[in-house]
Amino acid sequence: MKDGSAAPAFEAVFAGAVEGASLPWAGAEVPRPEVVLLNEALAEALGFDPEALRRPEAAAWLCGAEPPPGAHPVAMAYAGHQFGQFNPQLGDGRALLLGEIATEAGLRDLHLKGSGPTPFSRRGDGKAVLGPVLREYVLGEAMAALGVPTTRALAVTTTGEDVMREGRKPGAVLARVAASHIRVGSFQFFAARRQHDILKALADHAIARHDPDLTGEDRYERFLARVVERQAELIAAWMALGFIHGVMNTDNMAVSGETIDYGPCAFMEAYDPAAVFSSIDHAGRYAYGNQPGIAQWNLARLAEALLPLMGGDESIPAATEIVSGFAGLYEAAWLRRFRAKLGLERAEEGDMDLVTGLLAMARGQADFTSLFRALGVAAGGDPAPAHALFADPGAFDAWLPAWEARLAQEAPGAAERMAAVNPIYLPRNLPLDAALTAAEAGDLAPIRRVLGIVAAPFTRQEGAEDLAAPAPAGTPFVTYCGT
Ligand code: AMP
Ligand code: MG
Repeated sequence: MKDGSAAPAFEAVFAGAVEGASLPWAGAEVPRPEVVLLNEALAEALGFDPEALRRPEAAAWLCGAEPPPGAHPVAMAYAGHQFGQFNPQLGDGRALLLGEIATEAGLRDLHLKGSGPTPFSRRGDGKAVLGPVLREYVLGEAMAALGVPTTRALAVTTTGEDVMREGRKPGAVLARVAASHIRVGSFQFFAARRQHDILKALADHAIARHDPDLTGEDRYERFLARVVERQAELIAAWMALGFIHGVMNTDNMAVSGETIDYGPCAFMEAYDPAAVFSSIDHAGRYAYGNQPGIAQWNLARLAEALLPLMGGDESIPAATEIVSGFAGLYEAAWLRRFRAKLGLERAEEGDMDLVTGLLAMARGQADFTSLFRALGVAAGGDPAPAHALFADPGAFDAWLPAWEARLAQEAPGAAERMAAVNPIYLPRNLPLDAALTAAEAGDLAPIRRVLGIVAAPFTRQEGAEDLAAPAPAGTPFVTYCGT
């Protein structure tokens, strides 16, 4: 910064490496930018002095009104299948890539959401409002604390301007950080236009960013295989936590394997493969239990887009085999995670049946998160809390001896192992909504409290019961895209 305090340099790696994939653009001016939430630990990890990010000059660039010193912001182009329908031109309609920052862990994108209209805005106003922006902040931090690959929020800046949604809402801009914002839809954009030179530059750039060990002629199909592996791991991690993304369109799937674009997402409470919260997902396309199948469908779209680089139609069988491989990789990752949730470290024949038997019983009754936490207590010798979660505990009592017999084959310490992978606290739907409502009315204390609790999801904390318990049975809950 001008006064000499620490600030990392902004690079323009994507814009330089993939010509034609982004447009230089500036954010909208706003009346009164004010940083209301700052992720100090992340700021420091990026090389910023958090104090410097609290100064007015920083608020002006964290909301996009001015470029950061030395940066050349761009809006990124992408296409995407939205609810199964191909849209050849989406792109950053209310977002800007400020640039990349070099860190010990590699390059990190600094990207804004809500920074004003761009040439990709279509009919949107380019803005974002405080509630959904804070929601993305909280969900991302919770996922990071749970060990799930995710974009992270750096800051929330209010703009001092009201934005029209259902009524007037306080405008805000999210500054977020990712290993990259390269989406399945980024490849689809150039494949659909048959711009194979740009497609190749994009793929080579993505490989340099995420899989630099891949070289040689076959690097595109090996890159596809890597994305398949990362998505299999990611979706298994979501499933093991009851996370429902809500809009798994191909433009919301990152090739880095990070969870991206938190919109109408939520954590499931009562276990139910058909669970859907999003107000726009009428057909349940993105229901909890559909997520693995949808991920594979999206990966098939990535394979199609990469085909011109893999030698065209002749490579269809190879590409198909790679995408088909998702099922086995996902199942292995899923079983590994659910074994761990049950305290099991070894792999035995009947484990899949043990897990599916438990989930079948829980369906429609037991809160998913509480159940695994209570099973940890059962592993410590007290099955009563788990027993109490079932309306029909007879089936649970019948299941229990098989699990106990299986635990007897394991090293001691199952209760401790389970407590380290089964969270107590999540950003539960109702308390999170209440905190967001308070924030929109000007009180950020409840959101700061939620953030503090979900940052340590495995550690018992005083007075945090609301984030450990499900809503009373029958409480309706709907999430909105909040655009
Ligand atoms: P999303 O559903 O947030 O992933 O957005 C899908 C597409 O719509 C992306 O191209 C966004 O940039 C664009 N978009 C969403 N909301 C707005 C908005 N308020 N103004 C302009 N574009 C938007
Ligand atoms: Mg999106």
